[in-house]
Amino acid sequence: MTERVLIVEDEPKAAESFRKWLEENNFGADIAPDGAVGRHLALSEKYDLVLLDLNLPYVSGYEVCREIKSQKPQMPVILVTALGGIDQKLSGFDAGADDYIVKPFDFRELMARMRLLLRRTKDEPTSSGQEGVLRAADLEMNLAFKTVRRGNTLISLTAKEFALLEFLMKKSGKVASRYEIVEEVWDVNFDTGTNVVDVYINFLRRKIDKNFEPKLIHTKQGMGYFIKYP
Ligand code: CA
Repeated sequence: MTERVLIVEDEPKAAESFRKWLEENNFGADIAPDGAVGRHLALSEKYDLVLLDLNLPYVSGYEVCREIKSQKPQMPVILVTALGGIDQKLSGFDAGADDYIVKPFDFRELMARMRLLLRRTKDEPTSSGQEGVLRAADLEMNLAFKTVRRGNTLISLTAKEFALLEFLMKKSGKVASRYEIVEEVWDVNFDTGTNVVDVYINFLRRKIDKNFEPKLIHTKQGMGYFIKYP
């Protein structure tokens, strides 16, 4: 099946050369000439990936990216822009972009980045995906940016909650005992025993499981905790 890419680019010559190059590489491609059309197409049509310019008429690339990610969080978005500063890069990731490429660039590099993202989308939800991101069902932990989301909802965790969840996620379904958790996450031998683990598991459950399905954190009676989903 042909994969379809949406090109959101207001510079007609650049947009046309993207389209030509994509079609030569067996992709289908549509062009949106401004942010408003880009947002409309990205949200209403089916695409496998969006190439998104940042500096666009009507609606900025950041805004388009934010809206795509809030409604279609799985859709890969690569920002394509002439702006190369670290602030722009961080704002791009903050808006939920999956990757970022700065003009001028080599098409081969963009293709490599696209393939990586397209493979990641296809592997979901069973694979743990790209490096630095842990996934279980619709829960996504970004280890570099320390963000956690379930579906469209951004979840705020304390440093300990984050470390606990990361440890459980990295066990990929295997049971983590209370002792193991205390050692790994608290890095000390608690005199008070391991009740602290149960307390923090409850905090986590309230944040990542209470209002969501499927439940991810499970208890192995008398042994510990593990992450499981259908
Ligand atoms: Ca532009």
